[in-house]
Amino acid sequence: MIHPKTCKAVVLERYNEPLVIREVPIPETLEPGAILVRIELASVCGSDVHLWTGELAQLVTQDLPLVPGHEMVGRIVEFGEGVSHDSVGNALAVGDRILWSHASCGKCHNCKVLNQPTLCTERKFYGFTRSLHTPPYLNGGFAEYCYVLPTSGVVRIPDEVKSEWASSVGCALRTVMNGFDRLDDIGGLGFMDTVVVQGAGPLGLYTTAVCSRRGPGTIIVIGGPPNRLEVARRWGATATVPIEDYPTPAARIARVKELTDGKGASVVFEMSGAHHAFAEGLEMAALGGKYVSVGPVGGPPTPIPAEMITRKNLTIAGVFSADIKHYYRGLEFVRRYRHEIDFDLLISSSYAMADVNAAIDNMHHFRDVKSVLRIQSDTP
Ligand SMILES: [Zn+2]
Ligand SMILES: [Zn+2]
Repeated sequence: MIHPKTCKAVVLERYNEPLVIREVPIPETLEPGAILVRIELASVCGSDVHLWTGELAQLVTQDLPLVPGHEMVGRIVEFGEGVSHDSVGNALAVGDRILWSHASCGKCHNCKVLNQPTLCTERKFYGFTRSLHTPPYLNGGFAEYCYVLPTSGVVRIPDEVKSEWASSVGCALRTVMNGFDRLDDIGGLGFMDTVVVQGAGPLGLYTTAVCSRRGPGTIIVIGGPPNRLEVARRWGATATVPIEDYPTPAARIARVKELTDGKGASVVFEMSGAHHAFAEGLEMAALGGKYVSVGPVGGPPTPIPAEMITRKNLTIAGVFSADIKHYYRGLEFVRRYRHEIDFDLLISSSYAMADVNAAIDNMHHFRDVKSVLRIQSDTP
């Protein structure tokens, strides 16, 4: 297969300065197990904003310039030697659409002994860390092509799942799927549970959708602005608590107590990442409750009323990123419930690749819930 020698890519050269479009080399040959894809579209994430502002650089070592974008759908252009199937056993062919995970080594203690590949000490990320200085250069979704490493998990996107839905599976929903795995580790979710979801961004909304298909009669979503809470109600929230109307932690805690017969929620999901949200969620949890923490990923340390964990006998599960099985389950969730849940409601705008700075700016100022960058001009 002959592919071009270069392609266009969005490049982050300096934090807080406009992203630029550059011609970037495409590796001439593929190593065994690798896949070259043409990116069809990539969705824009809150993490892309934090990458652009430089906040993420406090958490992971970054080498600029780099190609941003970690939620993308690629069409297979070429295979390295030995690739015939995805990670869940589907045969792969040129032209198939795929999602792929960050690359874990499969050999370190965390991969092999703990069986937690998201904690791999050798993990290679797309769109966050690897620079344009070293091959294979194309390590992010905001580019015409991407080089899928041999150690990445890969899953074929079912034909019934639109690319716009699939790209958001590749970050928010796959993390939510891992969140439910972690919740299963600490006792799971049943129909008698009462749920609080903190946050109405893509993580909180997908959590609401998955909860609504798993039985609890009460699902309370806390967040804003109103358009996001409307999506939460459409996706299964039984009550919403707008932060505009309940601006203080005390008011929100009181409202949750009111909605749960004074008991608090038996399962709380922290999906907002807001500075004081975790401490607030501890107050919202019922005696013997479970708390799943996904949102907090950085920022200054926050005080926590630790005695509440003891006194209430709480069980807490942290969730970091996701493995390829969670991508697979996320795609299956969307495929199965696509006629019942209007997944289009999540995508508020779409932008041409050249308008990437507007896309980042609108995400930065919460004007978009989730937007997509259309990379291929021939994408319908
Ligand atoms: Zn993301
Ligand atoms: Zn590893």
